[in-house]
Amino acid sequence: MAENYRIATLGVHADDHHAHTADIASPIHLSSTYAYNSDPTKLKTINELVQAGSFHEDIIYSRYNQPVVVRIEEVFSKLLDGHAVAYSSGLSAFHAAMIYYNPKNVFVGQAYHGCQKILEILNRNYGVKVHPLDSDPELLQPGDVIHLESPVNPYGTAIDIEKYIKIAHSRGAFVILDSTFAPPPLQFPFEFGVDMILHSATKYFGGHSDLLAGVLVTKDPKIAQALHDDRNYIGTITASLESWLMLRSLRTYDLRIRKQVANAIKIVKYLDEHRADFPALKSITHASLQKEEFVKRQLPLGGGPVFSIEVASPEIAKVLPSKTNLFHHATSLGGVESLIEWRAMSDPFISNKLLRISIGVEDADDLIADLTQALQQL
Ligand SMILES: *Cc1c(COP(=O)(O)O)cnc(C)c1O
Repeated sequence: MAENYRIATLGVHADDHHAHTADIASPIHLSSTYAYNSDPTKLKTINELVQAGSFHEDIIYSRYNQPVVVRIEEVFSKLLDGHAVAYSSGLSAFHAAMIYYNPKNVFVGQAYHGCQKILEILNRNYGVKVHPLDSDPELLQPGDVIHLESPVNPYGTAIDIEKYIKIAHSRGAFVILDSTFAPPPLQFPFEFGVDMILHSATKYFGGHSDLLAGVLVTKDPKIAQALHDDRNYIGTITASLESWLMLRSLRTYDLRIRKQVANAIKIVKYLDEHRADFPALKSITHASLQKEEFVKRQLPLGGGPVFSIEVASPEIAKVLPSKTNLFHHATSLGGVESLIEWRAMSDPFISNKLLRISIGVEDADDLIADLTQALQQL
C-alpha cells in the first residue's frame, strides 16, 4: 500500500492485500477453528509460534485471530497511523490498556463514565489509586498513567493535550488519549506525543449504531505484540459478525465523519447566533466555540460531531427529546442518525439540565429546523 494515500482511499483499500478470494466485499468468517497446514513439514508448535513472535499472524482459533479482524486492524493501523489492536468494545480496549501498563496511580479528569467504573474496579481489587487530572505531578511514579479524553464527553470541548504530555513524561508516566469524539481527520494525537490512542469504534468507525468494538493504537510494534498476546487469553477480540460489519462501515467512514462534523459546526453556529430566539437554552458547549489557541492545533476541522446544551431546568431537559421529530432520544453517538440524550439517563456524574447531541448525516438545515421547533415549544 503506497504510503501517501489519504483516509478516504485507505478506508476502502488499506486491506486489499489481505483479500484471498475474488470477492469485492470481504467474505464473513464465522468459524471458531481453522484447519492446520496439511503439510507436516510446515507445522509449527505453539511454543515455536510464540518464540517467532508470529502467533497472532496464524489463523488457528477465533479467540486468537480471524481473517476479518486482520483486515480491520490493517485499516485501523493505516487510518490511525500506528499499530492497531482491535477489541470487542471500547471498554474492553481501555481495560486492556490498564492491564498492559499496570499503573499504581492513574490521573483522570472528565471522562467516559465506563472508564471511571473500570478504574473503580481496579481500585477495589488491586488498590490502584485514582487521582483527579490536575493532581500534584509528584504523585506520578514511572509507569503510571494519565488517562485523557479530548474532546471531552459530553461537552465536545477540547483540553490541552500537550500540557499533560509534558507532566506525564517528566515523571516517566504514560498518556492514553481517548480520542473517540474526534477520530482522524479531526485529530491526530500522535503529533502531540501521546503514548497510546483509544477509540470506542462502536461510535464513528462503526457509524451505524449496530456493532460494539474498540481499538488501541501504539507507535511501537512490540507493544502491539504484547497487547495481542494478552488479548489471546483475556478473550476480547472483536467478534466475527461485528468485525465484518466494521469492515463494511470503514469503507464509508471518511464520507460520514466529514459530513457529521460539518453539520455539527453549522448547527452549533446557528444556535449560538440565535440565542435570543430560545429562552430555554442557557448554554452551548463545543470546541468550535472555544477561543484557546491549542484548540485549533488539536482540531483543525473545528471540533467533533457531538456538543451539549444546558437548558433552564431539569424538567425542560427531560421533555425536550420528546419534542424532536428527527433526533432519537437515545444514548451513544457516532451513528448516521442524529441523537439527543437527557444525559442524566446514563451518566451518574453529570448535570440534570444537560442534553448531549450527536449529529448524524442528515441535512443540516432539516436538523436546525427540528431543534428550533422543539426548543420553541418550551
Ligand atoms: C462509548 C465510549 C466508550 C466505551 O466504548 P464501548 O464501545 O461502548 O465499550 C469509551 N469512551 C468514550 C469517549 C465513549 O464515547
